[in-house]
Amino acid sequence: MVLRYTAPKGTRDVLPSEAEIWQQLEGLFHSLAELYGYREIRTPIFERTELFLRGLGEVTDIVQKEMFTFTDRGGRSLTLRPELPAGTVRAFLEHNLAEEGPVCKFRYFGPAFRQERPQAGRYQQFTQYGVECFGSRDPASDAEVIDLAMAFLERAGLAAVELRLNSIGCPICRPAYRSRLLAYLTARVGELCPLCRERMEKNPLRILDCKSPSCRAVVAAAPLTVEHLCPACAEHFAAVKDYLTSLGRSFILAPHLVRGLDYYTNTVFEVVAPGLGAQDAVIGGGRYDGLIETCGGPPTPGVGFAGGLERLLLALAAAGAGPREKRVPLVFLAPLGAAPKELAVRLAHEMRTTGLRVDLDYRSRSLKAQLREADRQGARVVVILGEDELARGKAALKWLDGGGQEEIDLSVLVAYLREKTCSE
Ligand code: ATP
Ligand code: MG
Repeated sequence: MVLRYTAPKGTRDVLPSEAEIWQQLEGLFHSLAELYGYREIRTPIFERTELFLRGLGEVTDIVQKEMFTFTDRGGRSLTLRPELPAGTVRAFLEHNLAEEGPVCKFRYFGPAFRQERPQAGRYQQFTQYGVECFGSRDPASDAEVIDLAMAFLERAGLAAVELRLNSIGCPICRPAYRSRLLAYLTARVGELCPLCRERMEKNPLRILDCKSPSCRAVVAAAPLTVEHLCPACAEHFAAVKDYLTSLGRSFILAPHLVRGLDYYTNTVFEVVAPGLGAQDAVIGGGRYDGLIETCGGPPTPGVGFAGGLERLLLALAAAGAGPREKRVPLVFLAPLGAAPKELAVRLAHEMRTTGLRVDLDYRSRSLKAQLREADRQGARVVVILGEDELARGKAALKWLDGGGQEEIDLSVLVAYLREKTCSE
């Protein structure tokens, strides 16, 4: 029996036909975040398990159900990163990056791992991109992060998205709100889904954004975080909204939005795209003034966002949008005979060193077969190298985009092709 391997469930291959859009989006993310002053950081894809337990909070879905945790040969518990912010905070503290300035801004892009039930837009390995701004409590930083998230989606070609915004207060105002919410929920606990009944004790705020219809009905009349903000939090939220308005970023107030992780304070936001079904959040983020301290650092405010690239690609496909294909035109060499083939091998090398994209068919076939191959590969031009032409120091060019055929001196061939194909 022949063994056929398949990729593990919840993972996907990015095939060459998709690689270009991946590269474009990755490049776009890096160049845009660079304009906003966010510098790239790359951290390991696994960390000590405690980092995530502390950083994400022990009662979060990720820590309780989704982590890929294993023990190394030395008996230490390690975990494949379920998200990138925790490793970023760890590196920020470990390398004393705060010494570089009062505000440190980072961007990241890389794989993350969660043991979730695979479904549309939900994978066990996915690609997280995002930014972190450490050291600023200013609401203008919240607005900057959100503006960057929106600018990225816009430039990626995703126009019809909805920015949902809320504030969930701080350690000063949240406890009082939490008890009011608990009092309200306790009276109607029988109507909550089993999961939310468990959440009552440890994380009642999460019940606010439970998707089950019965919980939604209960939550519809629940007290809201925005109605219980302390004066400082209320002022902060008002300023974030004002800045967004002045940046021309429209938003929808989402009073039940809380986000899954423990570490958020004040601003929380999500960008949702149409056509994605239940997994419709392409980007999520907010402020987390307690995170760095929780991870063992000095009190340092932070705000950021993270998005999933696979989900963005699904959203782009659903919207029939996306960056335009922009490949370097292909020059195809078609040698006919032994001497021309030798020349073609050398020419391909020389052309590639000058920045031309070149390919050829090593199977020494007929001109017709080589032209067919050039066409299949989407070549812009075929350089036909026959014995006769070579004897005269010439090559024949056949432009496959309707430009006809011409003869050109071998001595100027490379320069000519560069001029014709690299100027776009
Ligand atoms: P969701 O509500 O969809 O579970 P989340 O709150 O768990 O999202 P975050 O931890 O904020 O997500 O991660 C940021 C982004 O990463 C999400 O907005 C989403 O686009 C993407 N993402 C999260 N989990 C997955 C996954 N399992 N597969 C693909 N993308 C994901
Ligand atoms: Mg999740």
